[in-house]
Amino acid sequence: MNSTSTLTSSDNFKETLKQQADIVRIVGDYVKLKKAGAQNFSGLCPFHAEKTPSFSVHATRQFYHCFGCGESGDVFAFIQKVENITFPEAVRLLAQKLGVPMPKVSFSSPAEARDAQVRMALLDVHVRAAAFFQECLRRPEGANAREYLKGRGLDDETIARFRIGYAPDSGFLLRDALRREFDEELLRESGLFSGFEPKAKSEEPKAAPAIYSKFRNRVMFPICNEQGKVIAFTGRTLSASTDEKAGPKYLNSPETAIYSKSRVLFNLDNAKEAIRKLEYSILVEGQMDCISVYAAGFHNVIASSGTAFTELQAKLLGRFSKKVVVNFDPDTAGARATERTLGLLVEEEFNIQVLTLETGFDPDLFIRRKGKDAYAAALKHSQKYFDYLIDRARAMFPARNSESKVKAVNHLLPHIQRVPSRIVRDGLALEISQKLGIDSAVLRQELKHAATTRSATQVKATAEEQVTGAERVLIRALASATQMQAGGERSSARGGTDEEFDPARQAQYALQSEQLYEGLASQSLMEALLEAGAETGDVMALPKTEEDRRLLASILMHEEEELTPETVEGAVRALRRIYLRRRLEEVQGALQRPGLPLEERQALLQEKVRLKRALMDPGLAEAAGRAS
Ligand SMILES: [Zn+2]
Repeated sequence: MNSTSTLTSSDNFKETLKQQADIVRIVGDYVKLKKAGAQNFSGLCPFHAEKTPSFSVHATRQFYHCFGCGESGDVFAFIQKVENITFPEAVRLLAQKLGVPMPKVSFSSPAEARDAQVRMALLDVHVRAAAFFQECLRRPEGANAREYLKGRGLDDETIARFRIGYAPDSGFLLRDALRREFDEELLRESGLFSGFEPKAKSEEPKAAPAIYSKFRNRVMFPICNEQGKVIAFTGRTLSASTDEKAGPKYLNSPETAIYSKSRVLFNLDNAKEAIRKLEYSILVEGQMDCISVYAAGFHNVIASSGTAFTELQAKLLGRFSKKVVVNFDPDTAGARATERTLGLLVEEEFNIQVLTLETGFDPDLFIRRKGKDAYAAALKHSQKYFDYLIDRARAMFPARNSESKVKAVNHLLPHIQRVPSRIVRDGLALEISQKLGIDSAVLRQELKHAATTRSATQVKATAEEQVTGAERVLIRALASATQMQAGGERSSARGGTDEEFDPARQAQYALQSEQLYEGLASQSLMEALLEAGAETGDVMALPKTEEDRRLLASILMHEEEELTPETVEGAVRALRRIYLRRRLEEVQGALQRPGLPLEERQALLQEKVRLKRALMDPGLAEAAGRAS
């Protein structure tokens, strides 16, 4: 048989890649991993903030799971998540990392292939456009733009590093330059052009609508993705007035197939190494601020590009460091957006410092007027975010009476309630009552209560703790069906027996014929594994709930001793015992019921005797337990 369908070959390619990739090494590029068991490694989770490692990678089963935040998956899922990219991009990146050439067709559908082609072509358009703008800046017509940049204190090196350019006043130059290489349809999708739609009743259906550059007479700041590829632009107008013709002062590219503003942090491509090395980032508001701070030698600076921070941006930043110095004034107009930004950072468990410059100074102006040493000193004196908030609340409600203190507390509460960790919230409540000088026990109690009851979703006893050793053994046995398929070799072929030991089949048989999983904490997980049988390759894809996935991961991460027929049989016996005990309790409970009909009573008594006898039997014969 010779399968030649593209679908199969691309699936094969992904499978081959996955087998060649060692997830421990791939993850190791992002996370410092330590050996934690026979087959697993652990480290600090890249997807949530933590101080003790709850992120584990299973070397033989090739999956990762975080016991802190529940993130789970295979090597592709990891790359996708950590790099914030699509699945096809993750495949490509993994191939790159392994030095495996991509096959010609590696997309699961023509639409996917087309999308990928468009994205690649759009990146090319942006490379060309950025070069065009840079070239224009050097030409005579770029004189005003050069003047402007000089006025902002940017030297040639900085201009070159940030690939700053100039969009000429004519709307057609860029179009004409790009039209030689790219078709117009693509240029329309690039977000760099505006166009007149053809009239609906056009006499000539072929008449192409004119397109012209959106960015005219503007200083052009490229926006890059994390890999440093230009994906969009911000254009700063050079027109003295911002009338309708000149457009707004700052103009941004619209969202396109390659640019989603909620996922991009300005300058992250330049800053990421420094952020990792210095273990903190400086977050500023505008691109100009960012460029100035960077040019002054603070290379760990990034900007949110004028928009309010998004959760995705916070997570993206958190991959490099969870410590951030926020250098914009939360008191200014537009404080809403700022507050939201800080709130998101709090929710993502960032360690936040607030750097407040003198009134009237933004980072750009501050550095130009006072120099980089002054900025470095200011950085050193940045304040813990909650200290800052408390100071502010005190300034807002300065009176020393209890009414004013209540107002201050109420002002602070929403901020505290954003903190995910109950312990941290508890500490903050205490700090606030001390700093505000709250001596009323009632108010103190109220504050503490409000702080600690954020939402009850976090702490809850999981099924994990209730699962017995026997259940764990049987779950491992069930999961071994998929392991053998994936690894191509038997995990435990025992010599001396005619029939090869198959832990999965043994467990399946016992569990299904006696329904031994009923009522167990692991019932739903066992059912999911039994349902799938031996047909699946990826065992971690089987659990139906987050909790079950976590349970399965924790069991597989701790596969220490080998499965033997004896351990599996022992586990089955243990479950029978659990079943018998539970049934015995039910029977005894039923016997207590007043007014029990005689027949029923006798049947129950008989069952009780049978159950007790069965429990005494060390072999726990399987038939004994089941009252038919
Ligand atoms: Zn995590």
